[in-house]
Amino acid sequence: MQSFLPPDRLLLGPGPSPVPARVLAALARPTIGHLDPRFIAMMDEVKELLRLAFRTGHALTLPVSAPGSAGMETAFVNLVEPGDTVIVCRNGVFGGRMRENVVRIGANAVMVDDPFGQPVDPDKVQAALRANPGAKALAFVHAETSTGVASDAATLCRLAREHGALSIVDAVTSLGGSPLEVDGWGIDAVYSGSQKCLSAPPGLSPVSFSEAAVAAIKARRTPVQSWFLDLTLVMGYWQGEGARAYHHTAPINMLYALHEALLALREEGLEAAWARHRAHHLRLRDGLEALGLSLPVAPAVRLPQLNAVAVPAGVDEAAVRRTLLDRHGIEIGAGLGELAGKIWRIGLMGHGSTPENVDRVVAAFGEVLARG
Ligand SMILES: *Cc1c(COP(=O)(O)O)cnc(C)c1O
Repeated sequence: MQSFLPPDRLLLGPGPSPVPARVLAALARPTIGHLDPRFIAMMDEVKELLRLAFRTGHALTLPVSAPGSAGMETAFVNLVEPGDTVIVCRNGVFGGRMRENVVRIGANAVMVDDPFGQPVDPDKVQAALRANPGAKALAFVHAETSTGVASDAATLCRLAREHGALSIVDAVTSLGGSPLEVDGWGIDAVYSGSQKCLSAPPGLSPVSFSEAAVAAIKARRTPVQSWFLDLTLVMGYWQGEGARAYHHTAPINMLYALHEALLALREEGLEAAWARHRAHHLRLRDGLEALGLSLPVAPAVRLPQLNAVAVPAGVDEAAVRRTLLDRHGIEIGAGLGELAGKIWRIGLMGHGSTPENVDRVVAAFGEVLARG
């Protein structure tokens, strides 16, 4: 065995996205102590930069030391107690995982199902909220990476608020790639991931909780069943002036990387990043349509950072992906769940969303499909 040297890959799948050199360079800087005052000062900057990216003033905004799935679990285990009712919207794979979280807590998941490939239907959500007065929370995925569909988070959060329910929003794929307004839409609990539109390596999950969410955590009748994800304990390390209590050893170098990735996002400007993702999505759409390929998601709800492409009849979905990887060094995603074999998923996330990458993947598709 010898040192591992990863092959050259262009990551145009559902995440991870390409990590820019400046972020990799930050990752390689010397490790210092996780209670070093200089490190704690950097942590404060990470929280401030995350508030800019989430567009929130929420004090409880921090990166959980684990991937997006842990951010999901953090939201559920802290806000939901055994016996609570949660309305869970499922229009893709990740809504199904939200249900798993609720059920494992011993709470009651009321499902609002929409077909994979469609957004969450606000009328169905309103009916579910009316039928379940006292529901603790409404949970939905803002940007469904499994299908490439955006749901109307502003409307869904308003409905939750009108019915006295907290909103739990999966923004793993939306953060940094398409409009997300945590304060503007009144989101109570939101979680994301470092490896999608932020273009840092995987392993951190930015989260943010409103004052109403913090009040609900403080009013719990039962202790949070996860010791590691219990925010009342995590806060001892991430909040407060000066001295911080040891909770776990923070992934120090990953936090350097996230800090650098967030600085890059701030330099570009959040709205400029959203516009860039949108422009390159349109360029990709035009290129694929010129090849005779079609995008099955309705234009109004397409995610610019995750493009579902219909697999034409008679084409071997997996063989195309294999050739793209082996011959062109390009990774794209397969369909998940009920869309397996039916779609490809082309991610144009973060640093991966460039005109050069669009042209490269379109040219590669043209070549692979022409060879048959
Ligand atoms: C990627 C993703 C997750 C899970 O994130 P991990 O970092 O893989 O744990 C959750 N929700 C959505 C919408 C995602 O795209």
